[in-house]
Amino acid sequence: MGTKDDEYDYLFKVVLIGDSGVGKSNLLSRFTRNEFNLESKSTIGVEFATRSIQVDGKTIKAQIWDTAGQERYRAITSAYYRGAVGALLVYDIAKHLTYENVERWLKELRDHADNNIVIMLVGNKSDLRHLRAVPTDEAKAFAEKNNLSFIETSALDSTNVETAFQNILTEIYRIVSQKQIRQGSGEQDDLKTDNTKPIHIAPTEDDTRKKSTCCANL
Ligand code: GDP
Ligand code: MG
Repeated sequence: MGTKDDEYDYLFKVVLIGDSGVGKSNLLSRFTRNEFNLESKSTIGVEFATRSIQVDGKTIKAQIWDTAGQERYRAITSAYYRGAVGALLVYDIAKHLTYENVERWLKELRDHADNNIVIMLVGNKSDLRHLRAVPTDEAKAFAEKNNLSFIETSALDSTNVETAFQNILTEIYRIVSQKQIRQGSGEQDDLKTDNTKPIHIAPTEDDTRKKSTCCANL
């Protein structure tokens, strides 16, 4: 089953991070299955879900990892971040504390993720207009200062969920394909800092038939 799903040009691992309750699991289910769940239940079972999109005529398979609620105990292991080329750092626009904690999550990324990981700051629950606690402009300015892309989403009414994933995957794709061009022409790799190692994304079980696993070596 699903042989078509196994055909892709690039496989990118993207992690979801941010405080518990901000809507990470619902962003994932909205993007990969077009589902939303009103109950707040901690994620069980699923480590990641996948969905493929097209960018520049290439098939990009996104492997999006969700926590199983470990963020509550600040116990996300470095295995979670291993091989990730993108991160959606999610806060809740109606809960200021989840925005304040973004700094802590950025530090977590600096400590555990690849230096070149592409980070998008995501203000979720934009449907809760009447409860807004984080002004859009403030978050946007913070993102700019920290070199992050920024978007507000609602997993509930679907606003910008597609766009958020499309944008981060396109951004990763541009970096990876630019890098391939540079490598092809024998130029120096100026994106890489001294101590970064290439990111190799291991094939997952359902990917075993795919001829090449990608190359997300940012
Ligand atoms: P996680 O802990 O970050 O994975 O958050 P969940 O996805 O489990 O969501 C926590 C709670 O917020 C659940 O009750 C969801 O129904 C609710 N929720 C998630 N996304 C949204 C959203 O965009 N708008 C609103 N109003 N509620 C949301
Ligand atoms: Mg969750």
